[in-house]
Amino acid sequence: MGDRRQKIIPAGGVVLLTAVLLLAGLSASCDHAVDDELEDHLNVTDQVTLRKFPVPYSAMVAISSDIDGTAPDEFRMVHRFLNTQEKTSMGEGLGLDIANSFWFFNANDQEGFIDAEEEATLEDQLSYFGGDQADEEYKADEIICYIRAGWIDTLHSWGDFSRADTDDTVFVRDHAKHAAKELDKLDLQISVWTNHGNRANIQNFGLGTGFADYQQGDVPDSPAYHTDLALDAGIQFIWNSKGSDEVGARRLLFPVDLRDGGRVWGFDRYTHEMVDGEKKWLWSVHRLHRQLSDENLQQIVNNNLYSIMATHLGNGLGPQGLPRSAIDALRRLKQYQDEGKILVASTSRLLQYHRTHLYLDYTAAKNEDGTVDINIEGVDDPVFGYFLPENEQIRGITFEVPQYEQIRILVDGQPLPDELLVRHAGEGERGYVGVSWFAPDYTDYTRRCPQPD
Ligand SMILES: [Zn+2]
Repeated sequence: MGDRRQKIIPAGGVVLLTAVLLLAGLSASCDHAVDDELEDHLNVTDQVTLRKFPVPYSAMVAISSDIDGTAPDEFRMVHRFLNTQEKTSMGEGLGLDIANSFWFFNANDQEGFIDAEEEATLEDQLSYFGGDQADEEYKADEIICYIRAGWIDTLHSWGDFSRADTDDTVFVRDHAKHAAKELDKLDLQISVWTNHGNRANIQNFGLGTGFADYQQGDVPDSPAYHTDLALDAGIQFIWNSKGSDEVGARRLLFPVDLRDGGRVWGFDRYTHEMVDGEKKWLWSVHRLHRQLSDENLQQIVNNNLYSIMATHLGNGLGPQGLPRSAIDALRRLKQYQDEGKILVASTSRLLQYHRTHLYLDYTAAKNEDGTVDINIEGVDDPVFGYFLPENEQIRGITFEVPQYEQIRILVDGQPLPDELLVRHAGEGERGYVGVSWFAPDYTDYTRRCPQPD
C-alpha cells in the first residue's frame, strides 16, 4: 500500500465523493480494503474541525474609519496613537491593527472647518490628488506609504464628490480610470470599498433603486459607470451605504448583484442605533464609546460575533486629538484583545478571514505513521469563484485537532513552513493547530513616510 493515505475528513459532500473515488483509484490492487477504510473514514470525521477564530479569541472586531474631513496632521496624530506604542498627546499608543480609508480626488466645495481649531477646511482634507483632476498630486506619496504599511486599506470611493449643489455632479468614468491606473502602476491592491456622499456623489453603487437611486456607479450607460474598473482593480468587499443597528453578527457578508451583471461581496457596518423608532447615527468619534461600550463588547464575545464599527476617526478633532470618551473606549477594546477575547483586525483582514473561514475547502488525511495532514484545497467563494488562497489569505485559520503535535497544514499539497504554524494545547486530548495571524507592527510610520507639502 506504500504511502497511501486515508481520507478522514470530508469538507462537504463533494469531498466525500472525491474521497471515495480517490480510495477506489488508489486501492486498485486491494479493492477489498475500500469498504473497511470508508468505514474508518466515517468514524473519524469529527476529528478535525475548523475553529471560529484564532486561539485564544472568541470574536473579531474592526474599526472602519471614513476619511471625510480628516486633515493630514490629524491623520498622523490619530494613527500614532492607534497603531504605535509611542508616547502621544493621547497617552501611550495602543498598538492596535486599525486601518483608515482614503480617496484619490477631492471635489467637495462645501464650506466649513474640519477641525476644532477652525484652521483646516474641506480643501485641506487628506487626498491623493489635490482637487478633482489627476494632474496634481497632493498627499499621494504619504498615502501610498500608509497603504503599504497597513494604516490604510479602504477606498472611501474614488473621491469626495459630494457638492454644495447636489445637482452639480462632477464624477465621470475618467476619474476611476486615472485612479485605477495609479493603483496598477504602484501594484497596490485595495479590496475594500465604502460608499460615501450626498446625492451629487453618483459614483456610489450597490443599492440600486430606492432612496439611493442617485447611485450610478454600476449602471453601464451612465457617464459615472466604473464598477468594471473597480472590481478589476481588486475591490471585492463593499459597504453599500446601508447602515446596520446590529452590534455584530455571525455573518457580515452578503452577495451584491450589480446592475452591470457583476457581483461583489457586501458587508454590514454597525453605524447607528434605533431610539424610539428613529435612527441615531453613532459613527462620529464623539459616539465611539457607545459603539465600544462594555455591554456591546461583552455581547460580541459571548456570541462569538464579527463586528465592523463604522466611524470617522479624523473628523473634527481638537489639538489633543480624540475626545476622552473615545480614548477610553479604544483602551477598553485593547483590553479585550489583551485578555484574549477580541482580536482587533483591520477591515480588509477581518473580511478576508471571514470569507476564507466561511468557504474553506479542506480535507484531512491520516498517514501510515499516524500523523495527520490537513490539506487546504481552496476557497469556494460563491461570488468570485473557487480560488487557491495565498498564505496571507489563510492567516488565522485554526483547526481543532487530536494530538496536535502530529499535524501538518498543507496548501494544495505543499506543506506550510513550521514558522507559519501555531500550536496550542486544548482540553483533554484536543489541541489546536493554525496558520499564525499577522505579526503586530508598531512602527511609527509618521516618521518613515514622506509628508509632502
Ligand atoms: Zn464618508
